[in-house]
Amino acid sequence: MSYFINVILPIPLDKEFTYSINKTEAAFLKPGMRVAVQFGKSKVYAALVTKIHETPPLVYEAKEIEHILDEFAIVTPQQLKIWAWISEYYMCTKGEVMRAALPGAFLLESETIVFKNEQTSFDESLLKDDEFLIFEALQYQSVLRVQEIMNIIGKKNVLPVIKRLLEKEVITVQEEIYEQYKPKIVRFVRLHKEYNKEASLRDLLDSMTRSPKQREVLLHLFTLQAQANKPIKVSELIKTSNSSSSVVKTLINKGILEEYHLQRDRVEYETGKNGESKELNEYQHKAFLEIENSFKEKDVCLFHGVTSSGKTEVYVKLIEKVIQEGKQVLYLLPEIALTTQLITRLQEYFGEKLTVYHSKYSVNERVEAWNNVKAGKSKAQVIIGARSAIFLPFVNLGLIVVDEEHENTFKQYDPAPRYHARDTAIVLAKMFGAKVVLGSATPALETYYNANQGKYGFVQLTRRFGNVLMPEINLVDVKTKYKKKEMTGHFSDTLLISIREALAEGEQVILFQNRRGYSPVVECNTCGHSPQCPNCDVSLTFHSYRNQLRCHYCGYHIAMPQKCIVCESVDLTTKGFGTEQIENELQELFPDHAIGRMDQDTTRGKHGYEKIINRFEEGDIDIMVGTQMLSKGLDFRNVSLVGIMNADNLLNFPDFRAHERSFQLMQQVAGRAGRTKKRGKVLIQTYNPYHQILQQVSVNDYLGMYKDQIEERHQYKYPPFYKIIKITGKHKDYNKVNDAMDWLGVSFRNVFKLNVLGPEFPPISRIRNQYHKNIIIKIPQKQSLQKTKEVIKKINTSFKSIKEFSGVRIIINVDNY
Ligand code: ADP
Ligand code: ZN
Ligand code: ZN
Repeated sequence: MSYFINVILPIPLDKEFTYSINKTEAAFLKPGMRVAVQFGKSKVYAALVTKIHETPPLVYEAKEIEHILDEFAIVTPQQLKIWAWISEYYMCTKGEVMRAALPGAFLLESETIVFKNEQTSFDESLLKDDEFLIFEALQYQSVLRVQEIMNIIGKKNVLPVIKRLLEKEVITVQEEIYEQYKPKIVRFVRLHKEYNKEASLRDLLDSMTRSPKQREVLLHLFTLQAQANKPIKVSELIKTSNSSSSVVKTLINKGILEEYHLQRDRVEYETGKNGESKELNEYQHKAFLEIENSFKEKDVCLFHGVTSSGKTEVYVKLIEKVIQEGKQVLYLLPEIALTTQLITRLQEYFGEKLTVYHSKYSVNERVEAWNNVKAGKSKAQVIIGARSAIFLPFVNLGLIVVDEEHENTFKQYDPAPRYHARDTAIVLAKMFGAKVVLGSATPALETYYNANQGKYGFVQLTRRFGNVLMPEINLVDVKTKYKKKEMTGHFSDTLLISIREALAEGEQVILFQNRRGYSPVVECNTCGHSPQCPNCDVSLTFHSYRNQLRCHYCGYHIAMPQKCIVCESVDLTTKGFGTEQIENELQELFPDHAIGRMDQDTTRGKHGYEKIINRFEEGDIDIMVGTQMLSKGLDFRNVSLVGIMNADNLLNFPDFRAHERSFQLMQQVAGRAGRTKKRGKVLIQTYNPYHQILQQVSVNDYLGMYKDQIEERHQYKYPPFYKIIKITGKHKDYNKVNDAMDWLGVSFRNVFKLNVLGPEFPPISRIRNQYHKNIIIKIPQKQSLQKTKEVIKKINTSFKSIKEFSGVRIIINVDNY
């Protein structure tokens, strides 16, 4: 009798491969274990077993496996099922899913690069001989390739050693990014030691009669100290003394105050006493009961709660209940980096039970989380993570929370699998009989539609926590303002007055501009030329701080030229504006206030986001300018005014979702205002104050927006009425991609007739020297999705056999967002 296994290889191949094994191996192996196999001439991979059987492959002779790598399955049967679903639904290979799903440490292959693990220390004497040889080599050489390791230990079969070394944390593999989740650091102040003696303190206060503001701050510091014997936060001092960060800064600079940083202790956190969750108010409680109730009949519930209504606290109660039953909970977030505030909050409630799963964590940390989830350990009972957390080996899932479910970062664009984590989460939950709550203040149209159709439960929370009113939103017509000369730079007088008022009250301001850099276009006044990226079809953006022109698509950059490269004129101007320009203008308009900027340029590097968010939270920044990063669920206590600098470039985006997205973005940004006591204020500057979407934003009319947009979607055959699959061709040769996509267009149209759009070049048709051209296939509800996909695959296969199109990369994106 011969025995065989089917395996998934971590490469983009459509099929599983069959290898032969002996009888003992057949008795030992189980689906979900890894085996080292040879593929092609010389490559070795860790492949994943899916099936053990006795049927030899028909068209090739099965090779023997090299080695068994695991003693237990590292992947569960449910995972294999969800992988299969993803590969089927999103039209990609299982190998691609495997690559996305497994932590890097599980993906050993002959190309793997091995590094010394600098993070841990261990006992060298515990290393086996072959392990020690590799360890020793890594003392002299920072990286080793598998080929080199083969030479060092004198055998070909090296994956088992690598695996052992990984487990002993001696090495790490192929990981460029290492970032650990750090606890939050808070800024405190105290009186400088020098003034601890009464006499010197008296002298100091006497000497300060001419700076009453500073004196006031000092006196408040004493009061605070007297009230409670604990460290005093900078933010607290500013608030109680009704002062500003600049006054405190002066005191620090003069050496009167001293600043120091402490890690914010869990217990010390102001809200919630020692990890107990908050008591829900009557509206939250009602929503909680309604969600529970809807779960009796439906698996998915849309929780539509306005910004700052306290959705998180409701999730927390739902989670508490599920973990009491001993089940696991997955809390999906659109992005981890931007949500440290939320994570801190959840860590307080769930403490040891919470694990954060982050693609930026080290290999070993991710493997640890993986193993804990798989073993059903209590310390991984609540998993919080971005989209890739859906790939964890859950054993007993009871609930999935998808927070900010409308966010498009839940969809992976590149590389395959191009999956949507929210939609996959729903499928995943079903496998476990688990429930899903989709939460948002601005639900995705599709989700709202599903709730409307009765497919999902629907629960609303229409009041902000603490009964604060929703912010008052006003539109400012900048066209008129320019005409009447009521603009200063990019600021209308209306906006400036409001900023001044807010600052005078000691409140903070957020200004939103959806472009980074100083200005997106530089133009020669003489000949009209504007510098373009040599690799992409876009203008270069001027960044004044670095005095550079930069491409936001490929990273290309040059020093800002002194004169026009075409006509040599020195008369260059900029068109349009980004966050950097707004920041500059603010510095001139408000020289006494601290201005911060939050965009891709200022949040690079380790803890980039955290630092700037903390500074704003601690009152270190009075006005924060930023891009859409500012819209992501941040909870600042002291922001009373939000300004949207220019609403128009959002609305004019050529995409069928542009209006929905603009509405969501503006509502979310607006939602940052007035979250505590006082009603917040929002000003939106625009050239089109009568635009329907802006009108709807201004009165918080989600339903009105929904009705209009759903009508349009219906009329123009877009989701949720039609599914769409986008096919993109890419090649560096314009003509080649053009001809290729024409061929595909004709082929698709033969079958799908009018439901094919394009081929069409996108607005930016060349990126990194690759031309893109798209075809969109619309699939009516009554048409079989599976058959449609089969046709697409078949046509794609024929396409691949056409020689003149070789090299054209075809990307298939199902439910393109
Ligand atoms: P959302 O997620 O709906 O925008 P949050 O959950 O962030 O709202 O809540 C807004 C603010 O109100 C948070 O600072 C939160 O701590 C506070 N909050 C919400 N519910 C309660 C509650 N039941 N008790 C005390 N504070 C609450
Ligand atoms: Zn010129
Ligand atoms: Zn470029």
